[in-house]
Amino acid sequence: MGRPFLVDSGRILIRDAAVLDAEAGELVEGQAVLVDGDRIVEVGPTGTVRGGDGTVLEAAGMTVMPGLIDAHVHVTAATANLADLEEWPPTYVTARAAGILRGMLDRGFTTVRDVAGADFGLATAVAEGLLPGPRIVFGGRALSQTGGHGDPRPPGRALLDQHPAGSGMTVVADGVSEVRRAAREQLRRGAHHVKVMLSGGVASPTDRVDSTQYSMDELRAIVEEAEAANRYVTGHAYTARAVNRGLEAGVGCIEHGNLMDESSLRLFQRTGAFYVPTLATYAALAQEGLEHGLPADQHRKVFDVLDAGLRALELAHRAGLPIVYGTDLLGGMHRRQLSEFMLRSQVQPAADVIRSATTAAARLVRMEGQVGVVAPGALADLLVVDGDPLRRLEVLTDPGRHLRLVMKAGTIHCSSLP
Ligand SMILES: [Zn+2]
Repeated sequence: MGRPFLVDSGRILIRDAAVLDAEAGELVEGQAVLVDGDRIVEVGPTGTVRGGDGTVLEAAGMTVMPGLIDAHVHVTAATANLADLEEWPPTYVTARAAGILRGMLDRGFTTVRDVAGADFGLATAVAEGLLPGPRIVFGGRALSQTGGHGDPRPPGRALLDQHPAGSGMTVVADGVSEVRRAAREQLRRGAHHVKVMLSGGVASPTDRVDSTQYSMDELRAIVEEAEAANRYVTGHAYTARAVNRGLEAGVGCIEHGNLMDESSLRLFQRTGAFYVPTLATYAALAQEGLEHGLPADQHRKVFDVLDAGLRALELAHRAGLPIVYGTDLLGGMHRRQLSEFMLRSQVQPAADVIRSATTAAARLVRMEGQVGVVAPGALADLLVVDGDPLRRLEVLTDPGRHLRLVMKAGTIHCSSLP
């Protein structure tokens, strides 16, 4: 795309565009969108919306849509070797995260939910404009049991460095009182949700994908702490057994869920929990994880979950679950962040995939009406794309060709519009 704009833009009128109504899954032709400060103030037929002496952008033949939301990212995961990451000073990790954040905004993501790693420092730096990037909704460090998905130690190491000023993405806590303290600590540091490891995972050295993690008492205590703070718990889980234990304990969102089954669907429906599949990362890890630092023994675990992911998404889609866009990419694989659109389109219509990255994601991050929508009163997080993404999702996945403007909170990040 063209030159970056680094100044606040004031009043901006985008004229003569089709506006994407993500919730309805339709385009409304011949619209104008007026932005004042960080908000959308008016949307209507081009002739009726007046921008005064502000900037006017001509978007004839193009589509204005809400900025995208990725609800499963790790913006500090600059390598796929998470044990290495712990050896890097936070100054260096922050510098690497800056590039990852900028790449996300360049691709059209204006809000991300970080589910382990990012903290209030990074979120504040972006909010103050010190680093260009999407708005960060963060959970701080993910909670893991000893030997769980968030325990980075190889089996021969006893010492665990959990200094809060380190670069670790997780905190190991065992027992009801320790997990309460760990959850309270994340909440004290501003977490929007609490992330808990409900099962084994791929990028961890000593657990198995099919293990369950944490006792029900520990899980209920974590949920109780989050709910006391009017926050929710989101859980990393693969098998039906792990997913179901989490949902029974009151977890409000499940990440991955590749190996879940019909019994999980009933629990999702009963609890209203969200589902965030992350297909992009398994394809990426299988194909190029080794060259990006994933240890060989962890690379083998990818194949336990790779093929099942699409089937789980299909089950969830048919059951009508609230499905949200997530990618979970690590290190140099972040460039594949938009690949999730095409992977999901194998089993979901384009309108549903777009909803997962806009309105459904906005509900999950509890910013409904603020992000994920082109409407008066919402934050002016807008994309202009050349083409109709409802007919051709590829319009979203090739930003070099189709993405003509990225605006976050009324500030133009980049534009090639006349
Ligand atoms: Zn993840």
